[in-house]
Amino acid sequence: MRRDFDSRQPIADSPPCYHKTVTSKSNVRVRFAPSPTGQLHVGNARTALVNWLYARQTGGTMILRIEDTDIERSEARFETQLIDDLNWLGLDWDEGPDAGGPYAPYRQSDRTPIYREYAERLLSEGKAYLCFCTEAELQRQRELAHAEHRQPIYPGTCRKLDPAEALQRRANGETGAIRLQIPERPIRFHDIVHGQVEFSNEVVSDPIILRSSGMPVYNYVVVIDDALMKITHVIRGDDHLSNTPKQVALYEALNWPVPEFAHLSTILGADRERLSKRHGATSIANFREMGVLPEALTNYLALLGWAPSGGTREIFSPPELVKEFTLERVTPSPAVFDMEKLYWLNRHYIKESALGKIVDLAAPFFGSAGLLPAQLEDATRIWFERVVSLLVASVDRLDQLPGRAAHIFSFDPSAALASPDNADVLGSSNAGAVFSAFTVKILDLQSCGEALTAERFKAIMNEVKAETLAKGKELFHPVRIMLTGSHSGPEFDKLIPILEEGSTLPLPKHVMSVVERVKVFNEARGK
Ligand code: GLU
Repeated sequence: MRRDFDSRQPIADSPPCYHKTVTSKSNVRVRFAPSPTGQLHVGNARTALVNWLYARQTGGTMILRIEDTDIERSEARFETQLIDDLNWLGLDWDEGPDAGGPYAPYRQSDRTPIYREYAERLLSEGKAYLCFCTEAELQRQRELAHAEHRQPIYPGTCRKLDPAEALQRRANGETGAIRLQIPERPIRFHDIVHGQVEFSNEVVSDPIILRSSGMPVYNYVVVIDDALMKITHVIRGDDHLSNTPKQVALYEALNWPVPEFAHLSTILGADRERLSKRHGATSIANFREMGVLPEALTNYLALLGWAPSGGTREIFSPPELVKEFTLERVTPSPAVFDMEKLYWLNRHYIKESALGKIVDLAAPFFGSAGLLPAQLEDATRIWFERVVSLLVASVDRLDQLPGRAAHIFSFDPSAALASPDNADVLGSSNAGAVFSAFTVKILDLQSCGEALTAERFKAIMNEVKAETLAKGKELFHPVRIMLTGSHSGPEFDKLIPILEEGSTLPLPKHVMSVVERVKVFNEARGK
């Protein structure tokens, strides 16, 4: 049984593969090899995480290699951001462009002479050949294949050239690419996720390894680097599964051992299309800006296509993942990204975290909303801790906190009086009496210079209740509207001290005290 280049279905019962590297656990060397051409996407972050988990679990080595051979699209700022995002996720590496290591350099643009050397070796050993086909000729061949419903495989035109003659043409100044000669037999390899995989050579083109411009090609450099860096397990996205036969052919041509492969499934959006920007947040930067905790994201990414054996457990801290994660249990089926589940995990990790940590993470969101200064003085920090602990249970993500704090920071009595949501409460028979009685008590308290504590507030509410005979919602809803603009919101015994104390702090946006709120509310209703 064979599988076609583009059918992407692994075969279940293929004969044993040619190579299966047996590695003792401590020899494990894995790499994450991103191209710095944009933001780190969740799919790539999952690849990085799985490599890291495998390295840390086996006591092996984790390597970061920057694949920047696409000079048009690669940018240094993306490399910096990538490193930043990986660090934020809690991932580290033992060798890399920043960390150095015995197989440096770890940035492909610094390795060009190495790629030239091995391409020439393949050429001199007759395993690769010079190709002088012009782009126009190749395009004509592709169109012909398309018209005849064939795969657009390079027809091997230059394979037939006499090597000495080809070298002479090059010496005479003719530019040519170097192509690898794919062997006339099936190409097989082992994949931990997909099992034994086999591709018919009839569907694998002789790949260009070095372009006529001298620029090496991904499928080639990845093999040179993985082999020279002694990578034992290539763990990456399954979009590279169809590249793997070309890479295996290269290992074979160079007489190098073939590593183990593990191709992780594609991540889909809820509509089962490949996860992309149009599905909303997809980059690590996006999730970071939303106030998703790195523990929640790593936990969620590990669950995409993996579940522990014999259990329904879903909460795994990074050290627990290192202990429990197994590559063998990763499924080849695509995984659907479920934002609600990520939020569920995020709520869990927010709840589990020390309040001080959440306060540190939440403060910048209030800073950029113009609600807090950049540096918090002690009194402001203590007050802000109370704000955060009052609101944090109501959010999925930390960036929602400033919106939830509107009760505290913004008060618009005219809008509250005009809001259809408040119409029933404002129109109720007791509302006017409650407003008046509450106002009198609050103003009295102010004139005595007495502080409004949670206990004092409770006592005032009891007095208002006795005087107006309003109780329950009839009593509390008008007072809530008078103090916050809305008839629902956080408990008064926590909210009142926050409003009172907040009003004494030097904040960029003044927090109104209870008495200030009562006064502006009465002005707005013309009393
Ligand atoms: N630079 C490649 C990518 O970002 C890496 C592929 C690989 O891991 O071999 O897709």
